[in-house]
Amino acid sequence: MEDVGKEMTKVINQRDWSERFDKLVQEVLKDPDVIKFIEEHQAELTKEDIDKSYSKLYEFVQEKRKFKLNEPTMIAPGYEPKLFMNFHYIDVTYVPTEALLARQKEEEIRNRVKAMDMPRDIREASMDYFEITAERKVALQAAFDFVSKYKENPKQFHQGLYLQGSFGVGKTYLLGALAQELAEYGYRTTLMHFPTFAVEMKQSIAQNTTGDKLDAVKKAPILMLDDIGADSMSSWIRDDVLGVILQYRMQEQLPTFFSSNFSMKQLEKEHLSVTQRGEDEPLKAKRIMERIRYLAREINMIGENRRHQ
Ligand code: ADP
Ligand code: MG
Repeated sequence: MEDVGKEMTKVINQRDWSERFDKLVQEVLKDPDVIKFIEEHQAELTKEDIDKSYSKLYEFVQEKRKFKLNEPTMIAPGYEPKLFMNFHYIDVTYVPTEALLARQKEEEIRNRVKAMDMPRDIREASMDYFEITAERKVALQAAFDFVSKYKENPKQFHQGLYLQGSFGVGKTYLLGALAQELAEYGYRTTLMHFPTFAVEMKQSIAQNTTGDKLDAVKKAPILMLDDIGADSMSSWIRDDVLGVILQYRMQEQLPTFFSSNFSMKQLEKEHLSVTQRGEDEPLKAKRIMERIRYLAREINMIGENRRHQ
């Protein structure tokens, strides 16, 4: 009795299964894209070919539904399922959508800007959404001039900008927007908060990574040192870090930008001349300033503080 029972269940299950299977096949064959595909490839497809393709057709119908509803469970998010002939059976392929391609392109552009220790709003800065104010106008024009000259001949030396102005006028934002603009033309920029970098350099001594870190920065195709002079520097940072970076960039003729709350003159006299220990070293400060002056043109951005508006 028991054996008969088991057999019965098996048969019922099988029948159940085959009914379900038939239903799925019917459903799949009703799909307008499937109908169209089979029609278009009638000459190449036999009945057996279509039978062999059911699982793929089923996958196609399922994934297309998820794609339309933008369900997160789909096999390849951002890719649209499409049918194609794979020798003698129908197969599914996943084609990237325009939206995905646009996103990937944007990502690629974003990756050309290496922002080290920069706030989020700066990483998202852009020339397209740039709000123009009186104090920003001249600087913006200078930034555009740089882009057009650099684009024309990236191998030649182009002087960068030294954006000077009080807290909150938009110096850092302009650097971020400029880096983004250059990225859109395919150029790579490293934008970094100089005081934070100085702290990291000091820490890197213990980890023995100073050389590598310094190399990566000094060799950046376009370099932007943000907020130079915001913290007092040790003579080591001034001469062996900043000095080395600037020397290399002059030699290699690489574009370099700065932003600072100080004018060039103030930076030299009030900042670079006096070390953390309080020693007065005007000659060393002068050497650094000569390099900065060679690399960048000073632009005044003094105006309103636009933070927290
Ligand atoms: P700074 O570096 O001169 O101290 P920021 O660049 O940090 O000033 O700018 C101060 C604030 O104003 C930031 O919140 C920034 O997002 C905003 N901001 C600056 N410039 C612009 C601009 N051109 N368009 C839109 N927002 C800006
Ligand atoms: Mg700033």
